[in-house]
Amino acid sequence: MPIGLTQLKPAIAKLSPNKKQRLLKWLQSEIEKDDLNTEVSPKAARKVKATYRHEYVRCGKDTCDCMSGNVEDMHGPYWYAYQLIDGRLVSKYIGKKFKELD
Ligand SMILES: [Zn+2]
Repeated sequence: MPIGLTQLKPAIAKLSPNKKQRLLKWLQSEIEKDDLNTEVSPKAARKVKATYRHEYVRCGKDTCDCMSGNVEDMHGPYWYAYQLIDGRLVSKYIGKKFKELD
């Protein structure tokens, strides 16, 4: 069983003012370490909520059948992820097989 705050608090309250000061400094350094860890964790920093869509697309070649606009002539369906990055909607191509973004 990990020790909870309920058990820690009475023990801390009994410490001398000097020890409480040292504890406070130590806690601040621990909090700073935590902040640093969250910043360097690339996964946490890059993790942006994504919306996934399965879409038929046109390749853009004038001569291709897909230009007809009929779904049966179009390419795909392919998976795309949409993310809101800095207030802009950004689409990312995933492929025929669905895969979640990292
Ligand atoms: Zn095409």
